[in-house]
Amino acid sequence: MSKNPQRFTITAALPYTNGPIHIGHLAGVYVPADIYSRFLRMQGHDVAFVCGSDEHGVPITIKAKKEGVSPQDVVDKYNSIIKKSFEEFGVSFDNYSRTSGKTHHDTASAFFKKMYEDGKFIEESTEQLYDAEANQFLADRFVTGTCPKCGNEEAYGDQCESCGTSLNATDLINPKSAITGAVPTLKETKHWFLPLDQYEDWLKEWILKGHKADWKSNVYGQVKSWIDDGLRARAVTRDLDWGIPVPVEGGDGKVLYVWFDAPIGYISSTKEWAEREGKDWEPYWKDENTKLVHFIGKDNIVFHCIIFPVMLKAHGNYILPENVPANEFLNLEGKKLSTSKNWAVWLHEYLEDFPGQQDVLRYVLTANAPETKDNDFTWKDFQARNNNELVAIFGNFINRVIVLTNKYYDGIVPEPGNYTEVDERTIAELKAYPAVIASSIEKYRFREAQGELMNLARLGNKYLADEEPWKQIKTDEERVKTIMYVALQIASALSIISEPFLPFTSEKLKRMLNQSGESMENTPDWDIIGTKEALLPAGHKVGKAELLFSKIEDEQMEKQLEKLQATKAANEMENQKAEPQKDIATFEDFTKMDLRVGTIVEAEKMPKTKKLLVLKVDTGIDQRTIVSGIAEHFKPEDIIGKKVTVLVNLAPRKLRGVESEGMILMTENAEGKLVFVNPDEDGVKSGATIN
Ligand SMILES: [Zn+2]
Repeated sequence: MSKNPQRFTITAALPYTNGPIHIGHLAGVYVPADIYSRFLRMQGHDVAFVCGSDEHGVPITIKAKKEGVSPQDVVDKYNSIIKKSFEEFGVSFDNYSRTSGKTHHDTASAFFKKMYEDGKFIEESTEQLYDAEANQFLADRFVTGTCPKCGNEEAYGDQCESCGTSLNATDLINPKSAITGAVPTLKETKHWFLPLDQYEDWLKEWILKGHKADWKSNVYGQVKSWIDDGLRARAVTRDLDWGIPVPVEGGDGKVLYVWFDAPIGYISSTKEWAEREGKDWEPYWKDENTKLVHFIGKDNIVFHCIIFPVMLKAHGNYILPENVPANEFLNLEGKKLSTSKNWAVWLHEYLEDFPGQQDVLRYVLTANAPETKDNDFTWKDFQARNNNELVAIFGNFINRVIVLTNKYYDGIVPEPGNYTEVDERTIAELKAYPAVIASSIEKYRFREAQGELMNLARLGNKYLADEEPWKQIKTDEERVKTIMYVALQIASALSIISEPFLPFTSEKLKRMLNQSGESMENTPDWDIIGTKEALLPAGHKVGKAELLFSKIEDEQMEKQLEKLQATKAANEMENQKAEPQKDIATFEDFTKMDLRVGTIVEAEKMPKTKKLLVLKVDTGIDQRTIVSGIAEHFKPEDIIGKKVTVLVNLAPRKLRGVESEGMILMTENAEGKLVFVNPDEDGVKSGATIN
């Protein structure tokens, strides 16, 4: 038990309830949050680990419209699927709530009202995009258009998913209604705004100065760039009929913006839990000594590091997050996970194919966690980590220890003799692990922590392989007693330290070692491993061996890859739907365009951009600079010497200060990768006209 118990409020991002959850969610948010919470509880801390379904907002209403059901039907369906997945994977929430519930509606409503009464909002009538055909204002995802920052043509009215910029719907270039496809008009409406700009100095002080050392660099960097860009007032209400009604005069027909109400869901979830447990919820959110930690993915950084803290600060009386250890994204077989494209491993489907193997997925996702950069999940790596680590090291060691203890001593822990130097060293190494692993977890380095857990299993496995009790039993029975005693202590330590990472395995192992509950006078815990020698004392009886992990065969992996292949094929079919023909162009229109064959002679990345390459192209007429948005698809060195099709008489324009004279013709392949429209026949020379 910790000498210094503390109170922790741990939140995990509220999953948005318009689909089931997949491995990316688990890896990015829920497994790390669960490891952390389980670890804290094992240290004797007072922990409230809360989450819940985020059930408001525009995408849910769009999905409901598409499926001809009510938004409530949509969230009921996915809330139960998501909740079940969390339970099945051992995510140990103290409470899992829903933002459509009454406690949350009351809490969020009161939160808004208090801020309103304290004059924390700016009230403003502004012109908002309006779809006259649908008779509806177009907030957030009801409108798509071109991102003013990066040029992505499919940016949403609240955010560009390509560059991460948070947007107002009216920022979009060429906006289009997602309901009818109509070009929206502007119509006046009144809303309440949170003046983020008024909190800039405070945010600089609190985050940029105060958390420079302890927040992850990916989180700190994103927050800094937001603040450096300058913050603007943000509307916290919407013209919508699905959500929490705006509880003040003039709020008819309006609801709280989903991003205003959702984080308050952490508070309402804590309230629900406290009420059920007969506790007071307030210290978990209002006591300065409580540590509040938000686990989220990188797409939520702005909301948890800027907007929600400003809300808490403006409301008053609330504590602020001590840390926001956001992860980057997980990819699947080299491609971005996507709910809409079904490019995912869904948790409920995983369990159909790998029943009882939750810990294998938890293990692989932590081993590969996108803690500092985007990472890739592959089935090959999944198989290798299971077979070479969980089965061959962890499982093998435990199996040998328990089988041999049963075989030689009828399952009774033997009395050890004198230790050899190897025994001494092994015990000393064992004792060091709990502190090392704890220190990694406390720094939110779960991948490193789990790596050390596997190293402890390696220590045990190597000890047995070197000492060979199965050989020594024939010549030195006394020595074997000591070997098995030492090995049993390592097995016991593994059963404890594995709990945050592999909760199902830990439980099974404790049962096998007969180490749980009333069976022992002193049930060993985390801290005892480092201080006390005997975790399993001589004379203690262990149970029979059960299989902890089983080998995953090639055929199982092939089945998974075939499944993904089928998804890929389906997506390709979808993408092949040709766009409708444009308006008729006359022959004269066509001849106005001067298309030539060109050769790329130089290529380099435009500094500080993700998408742009600066190319020098030999057009036959001259060598000129063309800026092309293809940097995410080609490396500069790979395209030098390539023949391309160039529109040479396109009016020059400046991109990021570089004048671009012409355009290179591109198309997209079935997987959405850009490819050159490419005159590759032998003997085609730069400057040749195309007609
Ligand atoms: Zn963008």
